Amino acid sequence: MRFLTGSKSEPRTGAGAVRVSLIALVAGGLVGSAFAGELPDEPLDPGGTVNEDTTAEAEDDALTDDASVPVDPVAGNAPEDDVALADAVSAEQEEEAEPIWLLGVEVMPGTASRLAWAATELFEGVPVSTPVLVVNGARPGPVLCLTAAIHGDELNGIEMVRRVMHDMVPDKLAGTIIGVPIVNVQGFRRGSRYLPDRRDLNRYFPGNPRGSAASRIAHSFFTNVVMHCDALVDLHTGSQERSNLPQIRADLRDPDVVTLTQGLGGMVILHSTPAAGTLRAAATSAGIPTVTLEAGGPSQLEANVVKQGVTGVETLISTLSMQRRRSIWGDPEPVYYRSTWVRADSGGILFADVSLGSTVQKGDLLGTITDPVSNARAELRAPYSGRVLGMARNQVVMPGNATFHLGIESEEDPEELAEQPEIVDTRVTGDYIDGMSE
Ligand SMILES: [Zn+2]
Repeated sequence: MRFLTGSKSEPRTGAGAVRVSLIALVAGGLVGSAFAGELPDEPLDPGGTVNEDTTAEAEDDALTDDASVPVDPVAGNAPEDDVALADAVSAEQEEEAEPIWLLGVEVMPGTASRLAWAATELFEGVPVSTPVLVVNGARPGPVLCLTAAIHGDELNGIEMVRRVMHDMVPDKLAGTIIGVPIVNVQGFRRGSRYLPDRRDLNRYFPGNPRGSAASRIAHSFFTNVVMHCDALVDLHTGSQERSNLPQIRADLRDPDVVTLTQGLGGMVILHSTPAAGTLRAAATSAGIPTVTLEAGGPSQLEANVVKQGVTGVETLISTLSMQRRRSIWGDPEPVYYRSTWVRADSGGILFADVSLGSTVQKGDLLGTITDPVSNARAELRAPYSGRVLGMARNQVVMPGNATFHLGIESEEDPEELAEQPEIVDTRVTGDYIDGMSE
């Protein structure tokens, strides 16, 4: 499919596409739901032991089995004036798709355009721009956004966006898909997770037009692109030599977010409260249900992982009735409401004895750390029964390094879920461990 380069013209106001409630949407399109329950929780910084708390990135502890999570997105709270996607689609003869205005360009229904977003400029005054791909369907529907490489070294998502966007046929699409393959173009060019000032862009949303460089870039992206979305999937990988089993990270206390996770097909879901400043936290707070899709590790392109991510996103597009069902993806995977990072207690060379996705029992050997000088050997064992959702690549580690991320299978007090903060401010708690995930 070809993306035309749009030409700028004066935006007019009020030309938005039909705003649709995700809840209403899925009410029309979702197949049975899907959670088997387990629990999750996240790491933190447990001096020495592995457990409790959260860490970093966005996760944290938590809660409950599936019964407690609001998995019934269909019930209830859709505002009356929302348009159910299913209705929009079935009423296509009566309802016309509308142009979408984005970045000063009008993208007509039934067309695809390649736009450019430039948040900042180099010191010599040259704008730094990155492509924004838009496919505006011939029929009305929601605006689904895909963002990748907010961390510039996370390559798998870039390829996922490319495949999904170029697979779309505008004439057969209901609604609009906006794909931004490389949000952090400056980091991408340098092969770095960060912006040139070493700031993590994904800690500055929704941003501030008078703040730091990171904050200004975040603000520009948030206001010019993200606010046009009805739902968002933010694509990430593990970081710092860590790799993630393809998984959805989502705040399962939010019914709209739960609905979004249900559309993504057979992918592991991990409940996590988003860290302050993440795109996921900011967009969800702004009323745009958002999940993070974590898949693989940084600085490499992993064919299998990319394929799983694309299948998940295309399943979502089908589930939302934006296109004819063509890739509904299999059996639901368990939902983990808690997880924990196993950390190294000694320094040395780490070799894993498990692989991503392995199911382990409490006490199972996860890996060994061998001191290259003394030959002393330490074993890393699973503190809980669960599944390996993320792990460090074989490497030299220091005490305290996060090595294995376990989704924990256990029963938990459902009320704990509700007790979590809406957003984890890791800058205050100090729980943020750089680069653990989104
Ligand atoms: Zn990331």
